[in-house]
Amino acid sequence: MRLILVGPPGAGKGTQAVFLAAHYSIPHISTGDIFRANIKGETELGKLAKSYMDAGNLVPDSVTNEMLKDRIGHADAADGFLLDGYPRNVGQAEFLDEVLEEKAISLDAVLELQISNEEIIKRLSGRRTCRDCGAPSHVIFEKPAVDGVCDKCGGELYQREDDKEEVVANRLNVYAEQTEPIISYYQKEGLLKVISAYGDVSEISASAIAALK
Ligand code: AMP
Repeated sequence: MRLILVGPPGAGKGTQAVFLAAHYSIPHISTGDIFRANIKGETELGKLAKSYMDAGNLVPDSVTNEMLKDRIGHADAADGFLLDGYPRNVGQAEFLDEVLEEKAISLDAVLELQISNEEIIKRLSGRRTCRDCGAPSHVIFEKPAVDGVCDKCGGELYQREDDKEEVVANRLNVYAEQTEPIISYYQKEGLLKVISAYGDVSEISASAIAALK
């Protein structure tokens, strides 16, 4: 299964990606997670990406595309993968098509998670992320057992710089202007499946599986 998850920030892509990757036994490839790991490791790539990410802007395609191409070339992605947060504009979607064509493989589906801007703002302002494993939680909707501590690994929970209110507004603009056009791009390719991102996590997972059958 070669799958792309699309949806605005806060739609729950990360949570569904972890579930779907396990369900189909494919690696979960999140470009945002790769950038954050590079920032944590203080690599050159991390230094370059940080200023764009903190402002809620896209990291330039020249950097992101090569990083993605390298990642899907790893052995664990040979039989499938789930892309979360890539592509984020039509240029990246076209680049991905070229890479897949070179490898003589194709996508199976693009799954869009739909949600309103109001709901996104509610979700993102309370979102906390684990510094160690990247798992998301929420101060109201997915409260950890101990405040500030990740339920999954015991790591420290923090608020991502780009989940702060002023940055969220820019991320939503970037999504509407740059990322939304990829939805019609994939619709034309006949790959698009749309599900609602409302409801509890297991209901959304069940809709995803049904849409992908
Ligand atoms: P995410 O964790 O997917 O919300 O990504 C966090 C941030 O990483 C984004 O706001 C961008 O700054 C950067 N980023 C992640 N994926 C991409 C991408 N495909 N293209 C450009 N920038 C990206």
